[in-house]
Amino acid sequence: MKYISTRDQSTNPETVSFKEAIFRGLAPDGGLYYPREQPDLTEIFKSFNPATSYKEVVLGLCNTLFSGELSEESVRRIVEKAYSFEPKLKSLGHGLHLLELFHGPSCAFKDFGAFFLAAAMDEFLKGSRRKALVLVATSGDTGSAVARAFLGRSNIEVVILYPSGRVSPLQEKQLTTLGGNITTLEVECSFDDCQRLVKKAFMDRELQERLNLTSANSINLGRLIPQSFYYFYALSRFENPQAGEYWFSVPSGNFGNLTAGLYAQQWGLPVRGFIAATNINDVVPQYLESGIYNPHPSFHTLSNAMDVGDPSNFERLMTLFNQDLSAMRRMLRGEKITDAETLKTIREVSRDYGFLIDPHTAVGWLAARRLQQQKLARGAEIIVLSTANAGKFSETVSEATGMEPDLPEALKSVLDLPKQAVQLGNTPNELFDFLLKQFG
Ligand SMILES: *Cc1c(COP(=O)(O)O)cnc(C)c1O
Repeated sequence: MKYISTRDQSTNPETVSFKEAIFRGLAPDGGLYYPREQPDLTEIFKSFNPATSYKEVVLGLCNTLFSGELSEESVRRIVEKAYSFEPKLKSLGHGLHLLELFHGPSCAFKDFGAFFLAAAMDEFLKGSRRKALVLVATSGDTGSAVARAFLGRSNIEVVILYPSGRVSPLQEKQLTTLGGNITTLEVECSFDDCQRLVKKAFMDRELQERLNLTSANSINLGRLIPQSFYYFYALSRFENPQAGEYWFSVPSGNFGNLTAGLYAQQWGLPVRGFIAATNINDVVPQYLESGIYNPHPSFHTLSNAMDVGDPSNFERLMTLFNQDLSAMRRMLRGEKITDAETLKTIREVSRDYGFLIDPHTAVGWLAARRLQQQKLARGAEIIVLSTANAGKFSETVSEATGMEPDLPEALKSVLDLPKQAVQLGNTPNELFDFLLKQFG
């Protein structure tokens, strides 16, 4: 499979391999890479059954997706290294299901993409003397998933920048206690400033070449493609998936997760449709309704990992549907959920089902409930993507329910470890000097 940039409008667009796409991150023209061909994974999907393990599902899909570029042994090594955790499908009756994607080390779904990307980069660098330097700015959660994913990969150094005093104490511990090949820089600035510094580094040709700089942010194709795998896995848990009507409700911010689901569908997964569930940062639901795309600075909400006012994957969505709004409307329903509705949903789920969900999952849950009330979804199975462990958002969950969710063990253990961070001023020169001295 080859990939092209969303901004390449020429009749004969430049194609790149998966390897090139993941080490470049963004295309040189500023666009996002997407698959040029649509492989047919229908037969492979039919070979899965409810007893097929997650790793086997991923192996089967990858062997077709990456055939020609990665040998079966390479694919096996990547999958073995990436996935020591798996999704869980929880069926709740009345056509409602939760796909829990938070059983990885950082207790949120971004582990699925980050761990695959790290393992794939490691595999591509194996045997070459090249080392890569992954540089990321984080406002909290993404950085910790990425850091954990790259920990201990011998050919890769990771440098993470975070804004001093602007991440939660738990997030700071997750970012600063890993050591090894993970270096954390605590910068006196806002998150936007951190991101500007990182962008400056990527724009500096000489620095980029000397250090072999690479990004691992959410637009990287190496994080996006593996997010399509758990959609296949989810439907493979049903006895006769070809016969049912399936919807996915996807709590969305940057729309990577939803885009990955749409790829799965294009590659043969029998899905009837998707719900683009957002908080009040609802530019995509608005677009579906009015046909007007109106990006804005983001509003702060309780489901803060979805506070995105101009989702970068909108470009991929438009390309996928060939800019055709009515085609998009046939496949996607938009739903906007407010903070008050989010709290109410967490409370009702706790009361009616006896377990706690996090605010992002609550957005997907209520959107799914609304779809269930429509005639169009009669008899359908709706699968809500559960994107984070409730314990990561204990303040919101206890505000909603009066109950204190447990912090997952994986996160509890970092609280006692010592913080290791390098303090850095907010100037490109200080960053460049540090990188060259440390890794040049
Ligand atoms: C990142 C994130 C989302 C949004 O996913 P996108 O792919 O950006 O749409 C939802 N929930 C949680 C917990 C997240 O961390």
